[in-house]
Amino acid sequence: MSIHHILQEVFGYGAFRGPQQDIIEHVVGGGDALVLMPTGGGKSLCYQIPAIARQRAGQGITVVISPLIALMHDQVGALHEAGVSAAFLNSTLSGEEASQVERRLLRGEITLLYAAPERITTPRFLAQLDSLQERGALSLFAIDEAHCVSQWGHDFRPEYRALTVLHERYPSVPRIALTATADALTRADIVERLQLQNARQFVSSFDRPNISYTIVEKREATQQLLRFIMNEHMGDAGIVYCQSRKRVEDIANTLCNEGIAALPYHAGLDQQVRQANQDQFLRSEGIVMVATIAFGMGINKPDVRFVAHLDMPKNIEGYYQETGRAGRDGEPADAWMCYGLQDVVNQRRMIDESPAGEEFKQGLRGKLDALLGLSEATDCRRVRLLAYFGEASQPCGNCDNCLRPPAVWDGTDAARKLLSTIYRVQQMGGISYGAGHIMDILRGKPTEKVTQRGHETLSTFGIGADLSELQLRGVLRQLIAIGAVAVDAEAFNTLQLTDGSRAVLKGEVSVQLRESVSSPGERKTKRSAVAAAKVPASLDVDGQERYVALKAWRAEVARAHNLPAYVIFHDATLAAIAERAPQSLDDLQGITGIGAKKLEAYGQEVLRVMVSV
Ligand code: ADP
Ligand code: ZN
Repeated sequence: MSIHHILQEVFGYGAFRGPQQDIIEHVVGGGDALVLMPTGGGKSLCYQIPAIARQRAGQGITVVISPLIALMHDQVGALHEAGVSAAFLNSTLSGEEASQVERRLLRGEITLLYAAPERITTPRFLAQLDSLQERGALSLFAIDEAHCVSQWGHDFRPEYRALTVLHERYPSVPRIALTATADALTRADIVERLQLQNARQFVSSFDRPNISYTIVEKREATQQLLRFIMNEHMGDAGIVYCQSRKRVEDIANTLCNEGIAALPYHAGLDQQVRQANQDQFLRSEGIVMVATIAFGMGINKPDVRFVAHLDMPKNIEGYYQETGRAGRDGEPADAWMCYGLQDVVNQRRMIDESPAGEEFKQGLRGKLDALLGLSEATDCRRVRLLAYFGEASQPCGNCDNCLRPPAVWDGTDAARKLLSTIYRVQQMGGISYGAGHIMDILRGKPTEKVTQRGHETLSTFGIGADLSELQLRGVLRQLIAIGAVAVDAEAFNTLQLTDGSRAVLKGEVSVQLRESVSSPGERKTKRSAVAAAKVPASLDVDGQERYVALKAWRAEVARAHNLPAYVIFHDATLAAIAERAPQSLDDLQGITGIGAKKLEAYGQEVLRVMVSV
């Protein structure tokens, strides 16, 4: 049975994506593999198809090790829907349920067994693996989220370290390790810790072409977010990342008050509430999850249409991993971030105040500056992102800067004016002031604070009257980013000159800035109309009716099976059915996402839905 046949028959897909075919052939042939693929790249098929192929060839079961207990139920459910025999073993099962799985395991009835790492290394489980191995019925180990083995990754799980037992105890059983984490340090660590020195490495491009990147300057963040969602993503599933728990709660409330179905998620919530909110996000359509970075690992919901960052993350790695949760289904999706001066100040302060050593802190500052550089960039965002991960590319045509190139202005002169104002104010009274006051002086605003302190007599008073506050804030952000201004967190965020100020004052360093970007509300009205209606625009009126009816039918099936709707059929599959208006089972053949099992299970029902509209 060829792997193409399995792809078509079981999963209903016509072609492999990217390096999937090479990986699958290698693993079916018994080779070890380390797979680095971005989120949404299609890692699951890389071990699921080998598992099926090797089981059919009489080589026994595949054991999948995954740290994501909360998601195993749905992963196994999705395989059942596709007609693949699968099960999971983790702490959510009762003793009786677990024994039942173990009996099926030993009888060879399972193709894929998902298990938590702490389960794998128990003597009881190892004894069962031994007995399978003796009968030649242990086919493959798949180690998902392999970066969990490394302390350099962000999700270190000590239990992963014990997985070396798999190789030591069953050296003849091939292993495939998979992760979406890119950096070289983590990769080397995975190889060493899991003893994958002889594994072939498959490194995919980290580009996610269907994600459109937009980064806007923060003005009234909440309003900007509301406009973004209302104009472009009403009714869509999305994730909004915020920096603090309190902010998560506030924003979730605000969205709800505006009629957007939003739920909060952060580590301060009760475990049960968290799980319930996650389930609802996965199972219902069009929920917006407002969350701290505690949310997201392993969330494989394919139809997340946007990821918004209301506050600036710590670094590009985090930003890219979080935005990567959008658009796993390959359909257009948005990554939207809003950032401001306060974000930079806050992040800097957190670094400064952390107990880490100076060298480490310097590293963190460098990472923050790289993200700030991306935010202030006037050229293609994707080129910058991929370059950060060591990949060269061409302007993408699908980011804000490519679609609407920003005007650039020379802020060198404004920067010098700003620095000399900070200097003079300090000279005059021996104390420093915050950004607001400095800008008032520059712009010649005789506020009470200005006149009380006699600052209207300074020679720089009013010399920046032609500059808007927005422009000055941009200048200030750049100056902070390049280290020409320091923000003293201990003294009310006052601005201080640094060693780096001199070069700017002397005109040795030029400061290039982007004109303020237009607000998101002003763009792409065409797509928003479509989004509001929530049906593919490519369908004619009848097709749209069929699509709506299919969605209602799918929701019922999903509820009855206690699974997310996308596990039954993806939106793209429903759209393809609605377009084709099938009259017979034959007409349903070859539609993407309809494998043999789903055709058999749902074909007739789908035809009935077609007749009913
Ligand atoms: P990852 O684990 O790498 O983030 P998944 O394995 O969850 O990605 O795959 C992402 C989505 O892409 C899933 O919905 C999956 O069904 C789909 N997919 C994977 N491979 C293919 C393919 N060859 N053709 C069509 N869809 C695919
Ligand atoms: Zn671009």
